Amino acid sequence: MTDAPGRLHARIAELATYNDDPAAGGITREIYTRTYAAALERVMAWMREAGLEPRLDAVGNLFGTWAGAEGDAPRVLTGSHVDTTLNAGAYDGVLGVLGAIEAVESLRTSGFAPRRTIEVIAWAGEEPRFGTGCVGSRAAAGELTRADLDRLVDRDGVSMASALRLAGFDPDRLADATIDPVSVHALIELHIEQAIVLETHGEPIGIVEAIAAPHDFRLTYEGAATHAGATPMALRHDALVGAAEAIVAIERLATGSPSGSTVGTVGVVRAWPGAINVVPGTVTLDVDVRDSDAHAREAIVDEIVATAHAIAAARRLTVTVDEIVVDTPVACDPTIIDASVAACEALDLSFRRMISGAYHDAMIMGRRIPVGMIFVPSRDGVSHHPDEYTSPDDLDRGVAVLAEALERLAR
Ligand SMILES: [Zn+2]
Repeated sequence: MTDAPGRLHARIAELATYNDDPAAGGITREIYTRTYAAALERVMAWMREAGLEPRLDAVGNLFGTWAGAEGDAPRVLTGSHVDTTLNAGAYDGVLGVLGAIEAVESLRTSGFAPRRTIEVIAWAGEEPRFGTGCVGSRAAAGELTRADLDRLVDRDGVSMASALRLAGFDPDRLADATIDPVSVHALIELHIEQAIVLETHGEPIGIVEAIAAPHDFRLTYEGAATHAGATPMALRHDALVGAAEAIVAIERLATGSPSGSTVGTVGVVRAWPGAINVVPGTVTLDVDVRDSDAHAREAIVDEIVATAHAIAAARRLTVTVDEIVVDTPVACDPTIIDASVAACEALDLSFRRMISGAYHDAMIMGRRIPVGMIFVPSRDGVSHHPDEYTSPDDLDRGVAVLAEALERLAR
C-alpha cells in the first residue's frame, strides 16, 4: 500500500535500537536524553528523505514541513511521539511519526501537491518522565508556565528546566513553542489502539470520535494502627478494610455509569504501617476515572466520593480526597472524522467509530484546534510493554488511511 513495502517496518525496528535499557527487553527512550536526541536526528534524516524540512521548537517538538501552494492557509498537522516510557514497546507514538513520514512520501510520489502546508510532528515528552505527560503539546497549547518547568521533576529529582538546558534548549524561551490556533486547519494523529476493541471486532481501522480524559484523585482512609493480636474485632478502625470496600464500590459505580463508557480504576494501594501484626491505620487509594463525556465522568466521581465518605462513617474512619489531575475530554472534529471515513471508503477498508480511552497529544491540542485520530489494532491490547505488536499489514493500512485523509484535508 505504500511505495516501498517494508520501509516503515524497517524504520520502526531501527528506531527501537535507540534504547537506554536493552537488557530489560523493552525500549527505554525518555525525552531530553542523549539517546532521545540521537533518535530524533535519525527521524530528521528520514524527514529530509521525504522532502520535509525539519526544525525543533523551544521545547524540542520536532516539525517536518511540506510547504503547500498557499503558504498562508491554515496548515494540516499530523504526528505523535517517539519518546517511550520505561521498558516499552516499539509502536506507541512511533507509528504516528514514522507513519506520517511514510504517508507524505506516498503522497509526494503520487504527484499530489498540497494546497495547505503539511507538517509532521514528533511531540516532545508524551510519556510522563516529569510526572505529567504531553509536556511538548501542553507547551504548544500554551498550557505550561515557566514556573511549571522548575516544578515538574523526574524520578531522580531533575527538573524539566534543567533537562531542557542539558539538551541544549533554553527554558526561558518556552513561550516561543506556543502554536497559534488560527494557523492550524486540522491535526490528525495515527496511533495504535492500545486496547482490544478493534481486534475483538475484526476491524482494521478505528476512527476516533472523542478522546476520554482522566480525573485522578487520592482517597486517604485513616483509622487506628492498633495491635493485630490484642485488638478485638469489634473495637477496630481498620483503614484497609474500608479502602477495600471503596475499591469494590468504584468498580460497581463505573460499571453502572449511564454513559456506558466510564472506566474507574484503583491502580495504587498503599497501607501503613504495613506490618503483619498491626491493624492498618492509614491507606491511600489512587483512583483514575475516565470518560469521553465529562458530565458522566464527574457524576461518577461525585458518587465515588459520597460512597467513600459513607463507608468511612459506617466504619468509624475518616477519609480525605486530594485531586491529582483533572483533564478535559475532547470531541474530535467532524471534518477530520469525515475525511477519515472517506479515506476508509476510498480504500475499501472497514472501520469502527470509537472513543479513545487513553489520552494522547491530540487531546491536549484538541482544546485549541480541530483534532482527529486514526487507530490500528494492538495485538492482545498490550502496550507500554516489550510485547506491544501491530502487524505490518495493519500498520500499512493505517498509513494508507492517513495519507488519504491528509490529501482530503490539505487539498
Ligand atoms: Zn502514545
